[in-house]
Amino acid sequence: MNRSPIGVIILFGPPGAGKGTQARELSKYLGIPHISMGDILRSNITAGNLLGRGVKEILDRGELVPDSAVKDMLQVRLLNADTSQGYILEGFPRTLEQAHWLSMTLTSFSNDLRIVAVAIEMTRSQLVRRIAGRKHCPFCYMTFNIYGNRPQKDGFCDRDMTPLVQRPDDCEEILDKRLDIYDRLTMPVFEHFRAEGVLAKVAGEGPIMSITNEIINCIEARLNAVSKQFGCDTYSP
Ligand code: ADP
Repeated sequence: MNRSPIGVIILFGPPGAGKGTQARELSKYLGIPHISMGDILRSNITAGNLLGRGVKEILDRGELVPDSAVKDMLQVRLLNADTSQGYILEGFPRTLEQAHWLSMTLTSFSNDLRIVAVAIEMTRSQLVRRIAGRKHCPFCYMTFNIYGNRPQKDGFCDRDMTPLVQRPDDCEEILDKRLDIYDRLTMPVFEHFRAEGVLAKVAGEGPIMSITNEIINCIEARLNAVSKQFGCDTYSP
């Protein structure tokens, strides 16, 4: 079936804001892939390849992987045909350099995908609590949380029953560093998309599905505004 392209949905938010959970829900609803930079990096670490060995310590310390490395990895992923109608980007861009690279890359593709950026906002105390209760499946990367998104069987993944683990960077000390990096390096990216008029904000506290619905409303409003501007039909997924 031919349908009009959806676009590139960028999910922003500090660590623990629920970007991964929301990205998975949006992917199901919009029928476009979810691309998580953190998952791409962790799958290289699990595979034990050269790249994974090179970045493991950086992730454990809560620092950012060099721009050149993440850009190269994302470029390879974007060549996959499943991205032609759009995709949900989680964890990218995190620096202004990554944001400029993404804009340039998008203009070099012929499908002319438009950006919709959504920022999920949370207070620091909400994030600390979330991160403390967060566990993930080391096999499929699904995340769970004892505060609000519990697995059906305590300690095991709902999808494949793999025992859940806590990420080494999900402790309060490393979280402080990740939040500091978010404020210094990622907030300017957020401001960049705000200045371009493509950023919407949603509150990250509340039932998962109501946050998803709010994000969907923001995306549809933005895509409809773009359709009108270009004289196309109203957008519907
Ligand atoms: P969170 O959003 O909770 O911090 P992620 O899974 O998105 O978790 O990222 C985990 C780690 O992976 C980051 O702390 C960083 O080390 C690395 N990382 C992910 N995305 C990027 C990126 N775009 N640029 C550089 N490093 C990244």
